[in-house]
Amino acid sequence: MPNNSAGAAAPKILIVGGGYAGFYTAKKLEKSLRAGEAEVTLVDPLPYMTYQPFLPEVAAGSIEERHAVVSLRRHLKTTKVITGKVTSVNHAKKTATISVEGAPSYEMKYDQIVVTAGAVSRTFPIPGVADQAIGMKNIEEAVEVRNRVLGNFDKAANLPAGPERDRLLTFVVVGGGFAGIETFAELRSLATYLLRYYPGLKASDVRFHLIEAMGRIMPEVSLETSKWVLANLDQRNAKVHLDTQLKSAVDGVIELSTGEKFASDCIVWTAGVMANPVVRATDLPLDDRGRITAHASLRVISGDKIVEGAWTAGDVSAVPDLSGGGVGGFCVPNAQHAVRQGKLLAKNILASIRGGEIQNYFHKNMGAVAGLGVGVGVYQWRNFAVKGFLAWLMHRGYHGLAIPMWERKLRVFTGWAWNWIVRRDIVSTSAVKHPRLSFETYASRPGAAPAAAPAAKPAAAKKAAAPKAAKPAAEKKAPAAKKAAAKPAAKDLSKKAAPKK
Ligand SMILES: Cc1cc2nc3c(=O)[nH]c(=O)nc-3n(C[C@H](O)[C@H](O)[C@H](O)COP(=O)(O)OP(=O)(O)OC[C@H]3O[C@@H](n4cnc5c(N)ncnc54)[C@H](O)[C@@H]3O)c2cc1C
Repeated sequence: MPNNSAGAAAPKILIVGGGYAGFYTAKKLEKSLRAGEAEVTLVDPLPYMTYQPFLPEVAAGSIEERHAVVSLRRHLKTTKVITGKVTSVNHAKKTATISVEGAPSYEMKYDQIVVTAGAVSRTFPIPGVADQAIGMKNIEEAVEVRNRVLGNFDKAANLPAGPERDRLLTFVVVGGGFAGIETFAELRSLATYLLRYYPGLKASDVRFHLIEAMGRIMPEVSLETSKWVLANLDQRNAKVHLDTQLKSAVDGVIELSTGEKFASDCIVWTAGVMANPVVRATDLPLDDRGRITAHASLRVISGDKIVEGAWTAGDVSAVPDLSGGGVGGFCVPNAQHAVRQGKLLAKNILASIRGGEIQNYFHKNMGAVAGLGVGVGVYQWRNFAVKGFLAWLMHRGYHGLAIPMWERKLRVFTGWAWNWIVRRDIVSTSAVKHPRLSFETYASRPGAAPAAAPAAKPAAAKKAAAPKAAKPAAEKKAPAAKKAAAKPAAKDLSKKAAPKK
């Protein structure tokens, strides 16, 4: 165990969650801590932080999935990274229970805890949603949506016009916030691009519906800008249903509050997020929305009392927005805040260890920029707006530089450059869900071999006989394996949509 300069055991800092806020806290601590000054451990079930603003472009095939995530181990050099889940925290005893795959759960002692476990998709008990829809919060979901669009075009191309083809080519996004509109517009852009490779399909065969309960979209931009986005989507044959609620999605049949009804094989749910429910398994104070209550200094606060040794930031927390721009007085859940809070949190932990001054978090909104498919974007800062191609360049420029680590920025920018020259990839990789299919189909099985390979046969003859003997077994297996290949879509989507935690 490392000791600090005074010879005492170095304090243990446990970071729960290595997304924006957690990753930047750890990175900043690494930069600033002296050798032996503290021992930092970061726990996350995923070995990477996800750059979530890129998910819509991953779904649209404009960014490769691994380019949109940042390896924790590669970029956190002195932090101990544990790929596992924190399942509960007893802050009174300063212990956290950690669950890792393939080994029993164990307890870890800490001196200071930083809870940055982010948010999860928030759904409502609408029939069919939990079974049929998929979120857009992690890279796996974005890849599944991409593969679904590409796979559905392939399937639809083999079908005559009719209800099944319509179902495959009807894409639905629920939620008209930033994430929903970006996803919708990016998928529309992908579908338009795909049509050139499917001469049997026409633009009018492909349908896009976005369902929004409010009377407008994208509350982060002005009403005028949001209307421009609506008009742009309308021109691209992407229908936005305002003031409309999703009533049912049972068996993929969408029923709207307006009475409209249509079938879809791809329903993306982006209608809100909520603080990660793991915090309910802690003794840390929560507000009525399940967020950890925070002081502006990012220390956890209970009423007006600071909870010693506990810190929080990002989407999981209710941090007062001292700039006055927040909703209900708190910072809105976005990356702008999570990154800056993470950095300040690290500084404040250092100050608490060294006896320095702890600062309050203050950040004025820098505006919002959205990508709406290749060549279209919007940027809004107060009353100032940029729309169209320039805003799209601003979106790419901003986010290409904002993804952490230069090696990531390089991958993203060069990926975009290559797409510009050789166009985006249109191959579905959904077959990776059945990686053993081919091997299993043609594998020799015990029982078939002896009849075809008698011991006395010379080696060469034996070699020639073996594949023949293997064939019946393979043929026998093939129908089952084929069935597995044909199964995928709805089932896998529903699996993904089921609550993970
Ligand atoms: C599609 C989309 C587009 C977006 N676009 C923008 C944008 O353009 N601009 C913007 O500012 N914001 C944007 N956001 C929001 C932004 O990405 C989030 O606000 C930000 O990621 C929050 O950071 P965080 O660190 O709080 O949480 P996250 O980044 O979500 O990190 C939470 C981490 O905690 C981990 N975790 C979960 N449970 C546990 C557990 N039990 N134990 C340990 N670890 C756990 C997770 O695996 C994850 O790595 C977008 C979000 C989405 C979904």
